[in-house]
Amino acid sequence: MANAFFNVPTAVNEPVKSYAPGSPERKELQEMIAKLKNTTVDLPMVIGGKKIRTNKTVSMHPPHEIAHHLGNYHQGDAQHVNDAINATMEARKTWANTPWQDRAAIFLKAAELLAGPYRAKMNAATMLCQSKNAFQAEIDAACEMIDFFRFNVQFMTEIYAEQPISSPGIWNRMEYRPLEGFVFAITPFNFTSIAANLCAAPALMGNVVVWKPSNTQIYSAHVIMDLFKEAGLPDGVINIVHVNSSVIADTIFKSPHFSGVHFTGSTGVFNQLWKTIGTNLELYKGYPRIVGETGGKDFIIAHRSADPREVATAIVRGAFEYQGQKCSAASRVYLPSNTADEILALVKKDVESFKIGSPEDFSNFINAVIDEKSFDKIANYIEYVKTRDDADFVCGGTYDKSKGYFITPTVVKTTNPLFRTMCEEIFGPFLTVYVYEVDKYEEALEMLDNSSEYALTGAIFSKDRAAINTATRLLENAAGNFYINDKPTGAVVGQQPFGGARASGTNDKAGAPQNLMRWVNSRTIKETFVPPTDYRYPFLG
Ligand code: NAD
Repeated sequence: MANAFFNVPTAVNEPVKSYAPGSPERKELQEMIAKLKNTTVDLPMVIGGKKIRTNKTVSMHPPHEIAHHLGNYHQGDAQHVNDAINATMEARKTWANTPWQDRAAIFLKAAELLAGPYRAKMNAATMLCQSKNAFQAEIDAACEMIDFFRFNVQFMTEIYAEQPISSPGIWNRMEYRPLEGFVFAITPFNFTSIAANLCAAPALMGNVVVWKPSNTQIYSAHVIMDLFKEAGLPDGVINIVHVNSSVIADTIFKSPHFSGVHFTGSTGVFNQLWKTIGTNLELYKGYPRIVGETGGKDFIIAHRSADPREVATAIVRGAFEYQGQKCSAASRVYLPSNTADEILALVKKDVESFKIGSPEDFSNFINAVIDEKSFDKIANYIEYVKTRDDADFVCGGTYDKSKGYFITPTVVKTTNPLFRTMCEEIFGPFLTVYVYEVDKYEEALEMLDNSSEYALTGAIFSKDRAAINTATRLLENAAGNFYINDKPTGAVVGQQPFGGARASGTNDKAGAPQNLMRWVNSRTIKETFVPPTDYRYPFLG
């Protein structure tokens, strides 16, 4: 019997390693990349702990080197989805009753394994599979994933400790039990840590999960599965399936055991999932939890008082790191007419100094975009600009997919605040800038607020407190993560809980207690020590 109230270790953010020349972590990572490149993997689905291979395989390639073959993954069908659902329901019998301290220990162990022996492999897999440079891989696949595991454990105990008051003769308690069926985790390509967290957060709270990773992230997804296994996660708690999106959605959303979806990806897909769940509502035991973090059209606005160098650096890092494929990446910028030319000259100089190529060469700042579909979409936007006379290139505007999916970081300046690329999510190294009249700051803020359906991240640069306050007030609904004199990317777990509203999602803040609360049902228990024995109240006397 565990007769104690345990404290979990206080969560701290994992320090980011530098990978500077001569550092041991750089050497280890380079050796791991070479090892992975010399190995061809054969990735099965993992259902109830069993490795499921089909005779239908799909080849995987680094986005920056499409001629290189990383290996194959095995593709399943509706039967495999049903098998995964059955595996969750079997695992649930034990997992839902596993003491919280054991669940905590498994994810704390996963964090320590990743901080140590799994770090190089998780980073190398992310670099090869998603074309991230060493630093971008480190802050995502190592540090953010470790932070999710550690902080979520702490938040779980804070949730459990939240208890109602009791009046004399009565004891009130609150229990937080997992959902009654399984959770469906659908994950995007762009963050290995998000993929892990969308499965791990519900599982930590006692839930069982069917996981569908993005096809372009399956390679690093399997390193996550290995990590969970080594950390001691029982078979069947998280099951990974590689099944076509429409087939899996059709099967999952018809299951009476479906209890919730944990989604990160584009707004269009999320809207479709929500509608299907609504249509099938009668099939379920309860109202499924629908949690989705979706698209963005993230902004930077500079006030006349802003320092041009600070604004330019925020634009360059905020728009182009990881090729603009962060949901938080700046993709529209509003500059005041007094400093716009100076800022754009600085941006152009920085952007044209970027080295572009494979992440295996550590001097490259920019790597490839994820796949041909994404490459073609961004190239189409570039071609669109060429046909217009209300927009022009400041820099970039070229692309080449002969060796990998490379797009030159592109800055477009428009005279139309509602230009297509000021409003639509592009998800690549493509930034559009609009210059507003310096004395029309409030009009620019209102324009910004009304020209996109999204509300994920945004930043205001100013040295004037009143101007900062005006932006903070007028843009209240324009971003779930709002930055003052900082770039709109780089949220850290435990420091800037992340998520947006409007068409950017349900704003349940990944890596925060709000998110974990979506994966529990609570039961209030009232116990009366000496029950009354007469129905008459005194006032009747
Ligand atoms: P995506 O929407 O194309 O895919 C996301 C996942 O949904 C993938 O696993 C995909 O296979 C799956 N999917 C697609 N259609 C489906 C269907 N009909 N039924 C079930 N599953 C389906 O997104 P992506 O290209 O992987 O990621 C980029 C998008 O994700 C961008 O829009 C970006 O803004 C968003 N994103 C948002 C956040 C956030 O926190 N708000 C974080 C990361 C990415």
